[in-house]
Amino acid sequence: MNTGTHRPTVIKVDAQAIRQNIKQELGRLQPGNELFAVIKANGYGHGLTHVARFASEAGATGFCVAILDEALELREAGFNQPILVLGIVEPKYAQILADQKISVAVGSQQWLEEANKVLCGDSVVRVHFALDTGMGRIGFQEPVELKAAVAYLKMHSDCFLFEGIFTHFATADELDDHYFNTQVARFKAFMAILTKKPRYVHVANSATSLWHKACEGNMIRFGIALYGMNPSGRMIKEPYELQPALALTSALVFVKLLKKGRSVSYGATYTAEEDEWIGTVPIGYADGYPRCLQGFHVLVNGHFCEIVGRVCMDQLMIRLPKHYEIGTEVVLIGKSGDKEISMVDVAEKSGTINYEIACRFSSRIPRNYL
Ligand code: PLP
Repeated sequence: MNTGTHRPTVIKVDAQAIRQNIKQELGRLQPGNELFAVIKANGYGHGLTHVARFASEAGATGFCVAILDEALELREAGFNQPILVLGIVEPKYAQILADQKISVAVGSQQWLEEANKVLCGDSVVRVHFALDTGMGRIGFQEPVELKAAVAYLKMHSDCFLFEGIFTHFATADELDDHYFNTQVARFKAFMAILTKKPRYVHVANSATSLWHKACEGNMIRFGIALYGMNPSGRMIKEPYELQPALALTSALVFVKLLKKGRSVSYGATYTAEEDEWIGTVPIGYADGYPRCLQGFHVLVNGHFCEIVGRVCMDQLMIRLPKHYEIGTEVVLIGKSGDKEISMVDVAEKSGTINYEIACRFSSRIPRNYL
């Protein structure tokens, strides 16, 4: 998709906010424990390589991504730190993993056997065993399966390095910790079969690190909170103030006085009850701004302005309190005057979570770094 550098819609990413959030969390970790920045999905929409740089400046010692291509982009950009791919990489790409020193999540012995077939010479793949303690997504189901895979790996130590072991909690962002504790117990049962721990033991996403004194672990996989977002939305209070890193702004490109009785946008679902100033903003659902946000608001000059009529693919209309000049700034996420619209505000109104809103903003919106 083309990036719209010739229209006023832009995402502004505050590097200092990212650094600050990471430093705050590092300050709470046990001495010697590490923080890997989770920067999958284009750094949750904030920009993969930029966030990688800000995170490493703040003390992150490694990165987690979801797919091999994200890891390769980081290597190509010159990042030499450890990179862990959290999702399953097809074993046929094992040679790339070895050559690029990219670590990978492995959830079965079968994966090791398949990878072994394609590896040549003195290539070594760095393996993090994924334990399914209750997420039900990837990973070993039972300690006995893990035991067999560890034995296989030891037998093939010329091809594989047992670098890490991890699990992922399904309910760390909820107030009720019953299920969380069940997962902790299962994790301990898995760990009991190991005679020697690998270099990295990691269980904590943002929510776990913020709110749980989980279990053993010497590295955290810090995602949403590094961007200044609360993993629980609003449910649980953060232990320190998270600084939101993303602002989404645009500008009025068309302003008119709409006569009483005239309608706006597809379906003519909004009709002016009196003569009204209506502004048009060049952003729509093709940019990732949710179509369902008719009736929600944006900020103009510190005033909440309602989105009237349906959000179109590339444009939306707002009701202004008075005439504003073309070019006046419109804040869709962020602060204007003493008012603010947060990612959670947008998410709640859209019936989803802040994670989804952040990573759905398309590449048509340029990212500017402050
Ligand atoms: N670890 C794993 C395995 C994940 O899938 C994710 C994100 O979905 C994270 C860590 C980071 O989670 P969060 O963004 O909630 O910190």
